[in-house]
Amino acid sequence: MTPDSEPKEQSGAVAGPNVRQTPAGDATGVDTETLLQTQGLTKRFGGLTAIDSVDFAIEEGELRCLIGPNGAGKSTLLKLITGRHEATEGKIYYDGADVTDLSPHERVRRGIGIKFQSPAVFDSLTAAENIRMAIQRTEDGDFSESIRSTLERVGLPEKGDVQASSLSHGQQQRLEIGMTIALSPSLLLLDEPVAGLSMEEREAIADLVRTLNDDGLTLIVIEHDIDFVDRIADQVTVLNQGEIFQEGSIEEIRSDEAVRRIYLGDA
Ligand code: ADP
Ligand code: MG
Repeated sequence: MTPDSEPKEQSGAVAGPNVRQTPAGDATGVDTETLLQTQGLTKRFGGLTAIDSVDFAIEEGELRCLIGPNGAGKSTLLKLITGRHEATEGKIYYDGADVTDLSPHERVRRGIGIKFQSPAVFDSLTAAENIRMAIQRTEDGDFSESIRSTLERVGLPEKGDVQASSLSHGQQQRLEIGMTIALSPSLLLLDEPVAGLSMEEREAIADLVRTLNDDGLTLIVIEHDIDFVDRIADQVTVLNQGEIFQEGSIEEIRSDEAVRRIYLGDA
């Protein structure tokens, strides 16, 4: 990767109705179609540099997979984007604005949703109550219609009254995705959504992720299983030791010798 810390050139194109317009004279110079961009993003934990001057960008409507060995910094990068971790150095631009110093709550409000690696469903509540809990954090009112449509969207239309602890692992993962999409994010970050799932459950999540993307949601998905990545993503970013090691199509990544050495386990 050649470092490219300069903001992308302004396209100068006339924005269509669906193109987010960076305000004239905006100091960031972030490209209008770039939804998320980091510049020199760095996170140190004491002496350990978990994310090392990363310039990462994703366009609106993309479905990007983030892969890399254990400890590469994948989860840390997502946590920086959501504001769960504070950046040590560098900038994060989202939707044309500098969000580096915004609270996690404010970033959710602006449309950044995340499903973390560890399960976050409330076991003793029903599926519907879990969705309600997620929405209530940011809104007031009657949510029955949102809850119904969300459960349908994640393929759990008949599970509303079922206690979350009685759902299969795969259904719980889909419920968690429901809890994030119920807030209508424009960017969804998924950290290992199929870890520990059966083939059948992986298929269901792959279908869901692709459908969400087809419906216009921009996604960044961290995943270890290269076959799953192959099924859902066109573009892949490989992270290694806190740096972007390679970026390209799944075919390019799969055939890249150096990537195979560090990641795919080939000698
Ligand atoms: P990945 O998700 O790619 O497996 P992580 O982002 O979880 O990697 O971790 C990257 C590096 O940062 C690892 O060396 C990990 O031990 C370290 N790390 C992650 N979170 C913390 C933390 N809260 N405190 C200290 N070190 C951390
Ligand atoms: Mg991780």
